[in-house]
Amino acid sequence: MNKNIFRSIAGIIIFTLFSSVITAQKITEPKLDSDWIKPYPPFRIAGNLYYVGTYELGCYLITTSKGNILINTGTAASEALIKKNIETLGFRLRDIKILLTSQAHYDHVGAMANIKKETGAKFMVDAADADVMQTGGKSDYELGKYGVTFKPVKAGRLLYNGDTISLGNMQLVMLHHPGHTKGSCSFLFTVYDSVAAYRVLIANMPTIIVDKSFADVTAYPNISRDYAYTLQAMKNIQFDIWLCPHTSQFNLHEKHKPGDAYNPSAFIDQEGYNDELNDLQKAYDEKIKQ
Ligand SMILES: [Zn+2]
Repeated sequence: MNKNIFRSIAGIIIFTLFSSVITAQKITEPKLDSDWIKPYPPFRIAGNLYYVGTYELGCYLITTSKGNILINTGTAASEALIKKNIETLGFRLRDIKILLTSQAHYDHVGAMANIKKETGAKFMVDAADADVMQTGGKSDYELGKYGVTFKPVKAGRLLYNGDTISLGNMQLVMLHHPGHTKGSCSFLFTVYDSVAAYRVLIANMPTIIVDKSFADVTAYPNISRDYAYTLQAMKNIQFDIWLCPHTSQFNLHEKHKPGDAYNPSAFIDQEGYNDELNDLQKAYDEKIKQ
């Protein structure tokens, strides 16, 4: 074969391979509310638990004697905001040892791959969301229709209902709360300050995201059963402080204003939690009539 033809064919092959790699990694975030990426001043919630998220997307830092735990990252764009929030509180990003998420949706794990790479932290995920994390959202039963919605992340540990995540003096229990995603979950743990102990629940509220009837969600045959399970399981949790991956779900902005003094009791709200769960139960009851 003529050397020049060979070169140009090789060039075309390399170019094609290269561009297909680029195409495979194209990330499309379907929607970005301005509140999702709006900066918000970080603050101490209770004991060694801190708020480091954006105005709407709840991200939580738990500090321990052996390094820190970060729950949720917000969208890809919030990477810089979270980093800044962590540093503003006097902590270092590189001290994060464990990364967790409430659910494998791009508005909570958009910056997970980059933060994992930067910190070398271990990413642990509810086993039922591990595949969606690895495909960058492409295998999600609903948001998969948008293709890859976040940078894929491989889990270092798979979590199952009731599993304990330990670091230093902290133990978090993971509660499997499927429906919103197949591996949505909540975290339950205790923090202390000089006055009291607080049982904290970071609850993934089971909101419904499909328009079609559950029977038509062929990519998630157990969806109806999973929501029913989660709604029931969530009614039986004992806790003091209630937080969520979305601040509007637990009314952060009614409970706390930037600059407010340390006040854990502002987040003690069993009634608000019950109301929210009742609304979600109603939405589910309506849905299954479809
Ligand atoms: Zn979601």
